[in-house]
Amino acid sequence: MATVRELVADHSRQYVLRGRPFVSVYPVFSRRAGGISVGVNLNLDRGCNFDCIYCQVDRTGPLSPQMPSFRDLPGVVEEELSLLFESIASGEFFSSPPFEDLPVNLRKVKDIAFSGDGEPTLSPVFGEVALLARNFLSRHFPSGDSPLLRLITNGTGLFGRELRTRTEEIFLVPGAGEVWLKLDAATPAAFDRIDRSRIPFLRMMEGLEEIVMSLPVTLQTMVLDFGAPGTPGSFAADRSFWEPLLDRVERWSLQGAKIRAWHLYGVARTPALAEVRRVDPLRLQAYAGEARVRLPFPVEVF
Ligand code: SF4
Repeated sequence: MATVRELVADHSRQYVLRGRPFVSVYPVFSRRAGGISVGVNLNLDRGCNFDCIYCQVDRTGPLSPQMPSFRDLPGVVEEELSLLFESIASGEFFSSPPFEDLPVNLRKVKDIAFSGDGEPTLSPVFGEVALLARNFLSRHFPSGDSPLLRLITNGTGLFGRELRTRTEEIFLVPGAGEVWLKLDAATPAAFDRIDRSRIPFLRMMEGLEEIVMSLPVTLQTMVLDFGAPGTPGSFAADRSFWEPLLDRVERWSLQGAKIRAWHLYGVARTPALAEVRRVDPLRLQAYAGEARVRLPFPVEVF
């Protein structure tokens, strides 16, 4: 038996149905989605061009021996989606661990979310599997009330116009999908400290700006502290972190960005690095309050 709090903290990508371990598809309870989120992991090799300090993916262990080739992955995803949605339709899913005690009002599949052990848009089969998932939802929910198709991304695969256009066509069907775009930092120092990518900061900001100007996205920002205050290598999400971030989002907004909402969130699950600390919820709420005064779209805290 798992409580809602335990389900929020547990985003294990190991799902087993009738003794069969799934490879790519993994259902979790999502506080942000407000129900069950069916994850699709296209990064079975854990490949990512970021190395976020809050990432909960453990990249040190051996890769799964069951890992299919990229060529076989679309077929695996389709089969696992079919099995999972059959078990949901039959009632089996909500009468089995770990979801059997989920309150009735939360027993709803809210989305199929592309979010895995790395950056989904980097997968060579991203476009193919995204289209497959879009078609799957159309077939299974022909009369509406379909879960959304959601992409959770650091945006780097969408810097290229072709994949950005394809993503728009597949995910941003009005009322049927969303793109959640990560923006963790707006200064080179914070970007280096939090996201730890080899992509130059200025290239990152330029690419993100192109995305928010052309696609309707929800911004996501992880707000965290790192290490003991004042110790070497420590980081605090203080005013020097927050003000440039809010200034940048406001500037994008004034320039005509299509931002739909901004999610500020604190650490909910166990990150790979133990030094990552959850910020005081009051600080997060205060930042959100400032943002709501200056921005024309909803700002939510999780
Ligand atoms: S972008 Fe996502 S998968 Fe990649 S390191 Fe950051 S949190 Fe982990």
